[in-house]
Amino acid sequence: MTAPTAPLQGAAPGSPSIWTAAHNADRRRPRSRQTELGASDTVCSRRAAYIVTGAARTDTHEGKAAILGTYIHAGLLEDARKEFGWQVERTVVGDNVRGHVDAVQLDEATAARLPKALRPSVPAAVCTVEDVKTKSVWKWDHVLRYGATKAELRQVYLYAAILRKHGFADVRGQKALARLGPIDVQRIRFRFVCRDDGAEHVQEFDFDELEASAALFWVDRVLEVEDPEELPRDHDGPGLAAVCDYCPWLTACWGQTGPGIPVQTLLVKDDDDRAQALADYVRGHEQESAGKKVKAFARAKLDQTKADTYGANTLSWSGGNPVKRPDVQAMVDLYDDAGVTVPMVPNLDVMVAFLKQEGIAVPMKDTGAKTARSINVRPART
Ligand code: SF4
Repeated sequence: MTAPTAPLQGAAPGSPSIWTAAHNADRRRPRSRQTELGASDTVCSRRAAYIVTGAARTDTHEGKAAILGTYIHAGLLEDARKEFGWQVERTVVGDNVRGHVDAVQLDEATAARLPKALRPSVPAAVCTVEDVKTKSVWKWDHVLRYGATKAELRQVYLYAAILRKHGFADVRGQKALARLGPIDVQRIRFRFVCRDDGAEHVQEFDFDELEASAALFWVDRVLEVEDPEELPRDHDGPGLAAVCDYCPWLTACWGQTGPGIPVQTLLVKDDDDRAQALADYVRGHEQESAGKKVKAFARAKLDQTKADTYGANTLSWSGGNPVKRPDVQAMVDLYDDAGVTVPMVPNLDVMVAFLKQEGIAVPMKDTGAKTARSINVRPART
């Protein structure tokens, strides 16, 4: 047990934060100290390489949202196991990757080969691998529109591929499942659950052999490297990609800079790098401008359309309300009625305008603050 490191606001001295317990438990979870590649570690090739090469972690992060997600995830799966008889959190071990499949729903023929106590209450039409993902409300629209990310697809295809080739791992607590041998997984299902309001969204599709081969190839490529830096960074770094913000190898991957200086600056070493970054900036600007034009035209066309669902999208309107601001004259009258002195402050705008009108320089003093730095990029003159 570890004592709390910082006093907890509002609590009696010595009273621990409940997060102390949560973080200690999280650090002890197998995935937090493994050196073997798990299917859920395939979110970034360089990060996966740090794991398999046993590189020391350089960063620790609080990760409270992820821990909350773990609790919700475990609670939902346990209840699904009890109520529906799903096989949950089952271990699979492949040739060079392992993991815990969230849920496997067996078809009738496969389930019939299990002892009665292990059979599902309702068998699936086909053997299905299911992955349950909890998401914040901020990511929810993205989930509804685009479904699982590339990394999430890779993870679940790895589970499905291992089950199809090896079946369940022969480990304690699932010997009967292991005796089934290879499982004929035909379907993949993602079940997204919103951490904030409990909304549920399902995305499912047939197993695709090519996608599974691509996922296995991705793992092979990671295992071949001796130095993680041989592999590309799959994300744009801290401040631009949340996966990097919470990466245990953030400093190893990006290095360190002074306060307020983005680590991405370390990628620019010479004028060729500067030229390339400027060209990327211009390309991004052109795409952004083209996108803005498309949006402006569509917005104009929709101006009189009532809120409803049209095709794949739901339209709603916000705003359009009268803008209110304090009524100075009414407040002066209220002060007069109450016999309270109306506060008088110098009117900055009027004073500046008067000095300018009289041709007198407006006196200025340094505030200590700095204006925002803006980037301006124009075609070079030859
Ligand atoms: S910091 Fe980002 S790019 Fe680097 S290893 Fe971690 S997740 Fe990958």
